[in-house]
Amino acid sequence: MSEEDISRLRAAVRDVPDFPKPGIIFKDITPVLADGELFRKSVDLFLKECHGKLIDKVVGIDARGFLFGSAVAYELGVGFVPLRKKGRLPYKTERASYSLEYGEAEMELHIDAIERGEKVVLIDDLLATGGTSASAASLIRKVGGDLTEAMFLIELEFLHGRSKLPGTSVTSFLKW
Ligand code: AMP
Repeated sequence: MSEEDISRLRAAVRDVPDFPKPGIIFKDITPVLADGELFRKSVDLFLKECHGKLIDKVVGIDARGFLFGSAVAYELGVGFVPLRKKGRLPYKTERASYSLEYGEAEMELHIDAIERGEKVVLIDDLLATGGTSASAASLIRKVGGDLTEAMFLIELEFLHGRSKLPGTSVTSFLKW
Protein backbone atom coordinates (compact mmCIF):
# COMPACT_ATOMS: atom_id res chain seq x y z
CA MET A 1 0.00 0.00 0.00
CA SER A 2 1.45 3.37 -1.02
CA GLU A 3 1.85 6.36 1.31
CA GLU A 4 -0.65 8.16 -0.91
CA ASP A 5 -3.27 5.44 -0.34
CA ILE A 6 -2.73 5.65 3.42
CA SER A 7 -3.08 9.46 3.26
CA ARG A 8 -6.33 9.12 1.29
CA LEU A 9 -7.70 6.67 3.85
CA ARG A 10 -6.71 8.95 6.74
CA ALA A 11 -8.31 11.94 5.04
CA ALA A 12 -11.56 10.01 4.54
CA VAL A 13 -11.98 9.26 8.25
CA ARG A 14 -14.29 11.99 9.57
CA ASP A 15 -13.86 13.50 13.04
CA VAL A 16 -17.19 14.05 14.78
CA PRO A 17 -16.64 16.07 17.98
CA ASP A 18 -18.71 15.34 21.10
CA PHE A 19 -20.19 12.05 19.85
CA PRO A 20 -21.54 10.00 21.54
CA LYS A 21 -20.54 12.08 24.60
CA PRO A 22 -19.05 15.55 25.19
CA GLY A 23 -15.25 15.45 24.91
CA ILE A 24 -15.05 12.39 22.63
CA ILE A 25 -13.87 12.89 19.06
CA PHE A 26 -15.58 10.06 17.20
CA LYS A 27 -13.66 8.63 14.23
CA ASP A 28 -16.40 8.07 11.68
CA ILE A 29 -15.41 5.44 9.10
CA THR A 30 -18.63 5.58 7.07
CA PRO A 31 -16.98 7.73 4.36
CA VAL A 32 -14.37 4.95 3.93
CA LEU A 33 -17.08 2.31 3.66
CA ALA A 34 -19.11 4.37 1.20
CA ASP A 35 -16.20 4.66 -1.25
CA GLY A 36 -15.75 1.34 -3.05
CA GLU A 37 -12.06 1.90 -3.74
CA LEU A 38 -11.24 3.01 -0.19
CA PHE A 39 -13.26 0.21 1.39
CA ARG A 40 -11.34 -2.31 -0.70
CA LYS A 41 -8.02 -0.68 0.20
CA SER A 42 -8.88 -0.79 3.89
CA VAL A 43 -9.73 -4.52 3.71
CA ASP A 44 -6.52 -5.08 1.72
CA LEU A 45 -4.49 -3.62 4.59
CA PHE A 46 -5.83 -6.33 6.91
CA LEU A 47 -5.33 -9.04 4.27
CA LYS A 48 -1.72 -8.06 3.66
CA GLU A 49 -1.05 -8.30 7.40
CA CYS A 50 -2.69 -11.75 7.53
CA HIS A 51 -0.59 -13.02 4.63
CA GLY A 52 1.58 -16.00 5.54
CA LYS A 53 0.10 -16.33 9.02
CA LEU A 54 -1.70 -19.39 10.29
CA ILE A 55 -5.26 -18.26 10.90
CA ASP A 56 -8.24 -20.54 11.62
CA LYS A 57 -10.87 -17.99 12.65
CA VAL A 58 -11.52 -14.28 12.37
CA VAL A 59 -13.35 -12.76 15.35
CA GLY A 60 -15.02 -9.40 14.67
CA ILE A 61 -16.23 -6.99 17.36
CA ASP A 62 -19.85 -5.72 17.23
CA ALA A 63 -20.55 -3.82 15.05
CA ARG A 64 -17.91 -2.13 12.93
CA GLY A 65 -15.51 -5.03 13.41
CA PHE A 66 -18.01 -7.16 11.48
CA LEU A 67 -17.56 -5.04 8.36
CA PHE A 68 -13.81 -5.57 8.04
CA GLY A 69 -13.68 -8.96 9.77
CA SER A 70 -16.22 -10.67 7.55
CA ALA A 71 -14.58 -9.34 4.38
CA VAL A 72 -11.20 -10.63 5.61
CA ALA A 73 -12.61 -14.05 6.60
CA TYR A 74 -14.30 -14.37 3.20
CA GLU A 75 -11.08 -13.63 1.35
CA LEU A 76 -8.98 -15.94 3.57
CA GLY A 77 -11.60 -18.69 3.30
CA VAL A 78 -11.79 -19.13 7.09
CA GLY A 79 -14.70 -18.90 9.52
CA PHE A 80 -16.01 -15.63 10.92
CA VAL A 81 -17.11 -15.36 14.55
CA PRO A 82 -19.14 -12.39 15.85
CA LEU A 83 -18.45 -11.04 19.31
CA ARG A 84 -21.76 -9.39 20.15
CA LYS A 85 -23.24 -6.94 22.57
CA LYS A 86 -25.19 -8.56 25.39
CA GLY A 87 -28.44 -10.28 24.52
CA ARG A 88 -27.97 -10.69 20.76
CA LEU A 89 -26.51 -14.19 20.48
CA PRO A 90 -29.15 -16.94 20.58
CA TYR A 91 -27.14 -19.95 21.87
CA LYS A 92 -25.07 -20.53 25.05
CA THR A 93 -22.47 -17.82 25.60
CA GLU A 94 -19.55 -16.70 27.68
CA ARG A 95 -20.03 -13.09 28.81
CA ALA A 96 -17.66 -10.33 29.92
CA SER A 97 -18.22 -6.75 31.01
CA TYR A 98 -15.79 -4.04 29.95
CA SER A 99 -15.28 -0.31 29.72
CA LEU A 100 -14.54 1.56 26.54
CA GLU A 101 -13.54 5.12 25.68
CA TYR A 102 -17.09 6.38 26.14
CA GLY A 103 -18.87 3.98 28.47
CA GLU A 104 -19.47 0.53 29.94
CA ALA A 105 -20.87 -2.52 28.16
CA GLU A 106 -21.07 -6.30 28.12
CA MET A 107 -20.23 -8.61 25.25
CA GLU A 108 -20.79 -12.28 24.51
CA LEU A 109 -19.31 -15.09 22.46
CA HIS A 110 -20.94 -18.43 21.61
CA ILE A 111 -19.23 -21.14 23.67
CA ASP A 112 -18.73 -23.39 20.62
CA ALA A 113 -17.70 -20.68 18.12
CA ILE A 114 -13.98 -21.53 18.29
CA GLU A 115 -12.36 -24.99 18.46
CA ARG A 116 -9.82 -25.53 21.22
CA GLY A 117 -6.38 -24.36 20.02
CA GLU A 118 -7.58 -22.61 16.89
CA LYS A 119 -5.47 -19.61 15.86
CA VAL A 120 -7.58 -16.50 16.04
CA VAL A 121 -7.21 -13.00 14.63
CA LEU A 122 -9.29 -10.30 16.33
CA ILE A 123 -10.49 -7.44 14.11
CA ASP A 124 -12.12 -4.11 14.96
CA ASP A 125 -12.32 -0.69 13.36
CA LEU A 126 -10.58 1.18 16.17
CA LEU A 127 -8.38 0.62 19.22
CA ALA A 128 -8.90 3.30 21.87
CA THR A 129 -8.36 2.45 25.56
CA GLY A 130 -8.16 -1.27 24.76
CA GLY A 131 -10.95 -2.18 27.21
CA THR A 132 -13.11 -3.72 24.49
CA SER A 133 -10.28 -5.73 22.97
CA ALA A 134 -8.93 -6.92 26.31
CA SER A 135 -12.37 -8.24 27.14
CA ALA A 136 -12.64 -9.83 23.69
CA ALA A 137 -9.25 -11.48 24.27
CA SER A 138 -10.37 -12.96 27.59
CA LEU A 139 -13.54 -14.37 26.00
CA ILE A 140 -11.64 -15.87 23.06
CA ARG A 141 -9.23 -17.56 25.48
CA LYS A 142 -12.07 -18.70 27.74
CA VAL A 143 -13.65 -20.67 24.88
CA GLY A 144 -10.27 -22.19 23.99
CA GLY A 145 -9.02 -19.98 21.16
CA ASP A 146 -5.36 -19.03 20.68
CA LEU A 147 -5.43 -15.27 20.09
CA THR A 148 -2.25 -14.57 18.16
CA GLU A 149 -3.15 -11.38 16.28
CA ALA A 150 -5.27 -8.27 16.80
CA MET A 151 -5.74 -5.80 13.93
CA PHE A 152 -7.40 -2.39 13.81
CA LEU A 153 -7.94 0.07 10.99
CA ILE A 154 -7.39 2.95 13.44
CA GLU A 155 -5.39 3.29 16.66
CA LEU A 156 -5.67 6.22 19.08
CA GLU A 157 -2.08 5.85 20.26
CA PHE A 158 -2.35 8.42 23.06
CA LEU A 159 -4.71 6.04 24.91
CA HIS A 160 -2.11 3.20 24.95
CA GLY A 161 -4.73 0.50 24.30
CA ARG A 162 -2.19 -2.00 22.96
CA SER A 163 -0.72 -2.40 26.45
CA LYS A 164 -3.97 -4.20 27.36
CA LEU A 165 -3.23 -6.99 24.87
CA PRO A 166 -0.10 -8.71 26.20
CA GLY A 167 0.89 -11.87 24.34
CA THR A 168 -0.90 -10.77 21.17
CA SER A 169 0.69 -9.12 18.16
CA VAL A 170 -1.15 -5.80 17.67
CA THR A 171 -1.28 -4.04 14.29
CA SER A 172 -3.01 -0.81 13.23
CA PHE A 173 -2.89 1.03 9.94
CA LEU A 174 -4.03 4.61 10.61
CA LYS A 175 -2.68 6.20 13.77
CA TRP A 176 -3.68 9.30 15.68
P1 AMP B 1 -11.82 0.93 23.64
O1 AMP B 1 -12.43 -0.23 24.37
O2 AMP B 1 -11.71 2.17 24.46
O3 AMP B 1 -10.52 0.54 22.97
O4 AMP B 1 -12.85 1.32 22.49
C1 AMP B 1 -12.87 0.62 21.27
C2 AMP B 1 -14.26 0.37 20.79
O5 AMP B 1 -15.09 1.52 20.93
C3 AMP B 1 -14.25 0.04 19.31
O6 AMP B 1 -15.24 -0.96 19.07
C4 AMP B 1 -14.57 1.35 18.63
O7 AMP B 1 -15.43 1.14 17.53
C5 AMP B 1 -15.25 2.19 19.69
N1 AMP B 1 -14.62 3.51 19.89
C6 AMP B 1 -13.98 3.94 21.00
N2 AMP B 1 -13.55 5.21 20.86
C7 AMP B 1 -13.92 5.59 19.61
C8 AMP B 1 -13.73 6.79 18.84
N3 AMP B 1 -13.08 7.85 19.33
N4 AMP B 1 -14.22 6.82 17.58
C9 AMP B 1 -14.87 5.75 17.07
N5 AMP B 1 -15.06 4.59 17.73
C10 AMP B 1 -14.59 4.51 18.99
